[in-house]
Amino acid sequence: MSEAESINLPNPNPNSEGAAEPLADPGEHTTHAAAPAPAPDAGSEGEGLVGEDGFAVAGRVSSPVPGHRVTYRYGIRNPRYATGYHTGDDYAARTGTPVVAVRAGTIAWADTRGASYGTWIGLRADNGRDYIYCHLSKLEVKTGARVRAGQRIGRVGATGSVTGPHLHLEDRPRGGRYGQDRKPRW
Ligand SMILES: [Zn+2]
Repeated sequence: MSEAESINLPNPNPNSEGAAEPLADPGEHTTHAAAPAPAPDAGSEGEGLVGEDGFAVAGRVSSPVPGHRVTYRYGIRNPRYATGYHTGDDYAARTGTPVVAVRAGTIAWADTRGASYGTWIGLRADNGRDYIYCHLSKLEVKTGARVRAGQRIGRVGATGSVTGPHLHLEDRPRGGRYGQDRKPRW
């Protein structure tokens, strides 16, 4: 997936409702293929870092993209990002692949105004964290909706600044902004 700035409209249209918008550089996710530090999970089976099958296990959601694992990790240094590092975990998957709520909570926002993050959802979860789902092709919840862990909320896409379809998932404190993230966990 080396071509494709296709759906890039890095239009800074930050009229979001105060919900942290990514002041990110336009280069967010420029490349997964050419990532300087290849994700170690690429060929390592069974490391047990992330739920293997991606489906809920014992009441817990093991992947926000069921059946898919992290393909480009949080924290990888890359000067193309405003923070200098990758602020979330990426899950490469075909456009249209379902994404699910990692925990129960309320949809703080679900709209197309994420600028470089494209169509996005903010899940305000019951653990006090905000989980940000970016680059979606479709929204399946509305702002204000209450969701259960594992409930489908949207579809993977390639909106915003990307080179190919994937979910970029961030984990921020409630109301946190771009750069106030941690390695996603739930
Ligand atoms: Zn990403």
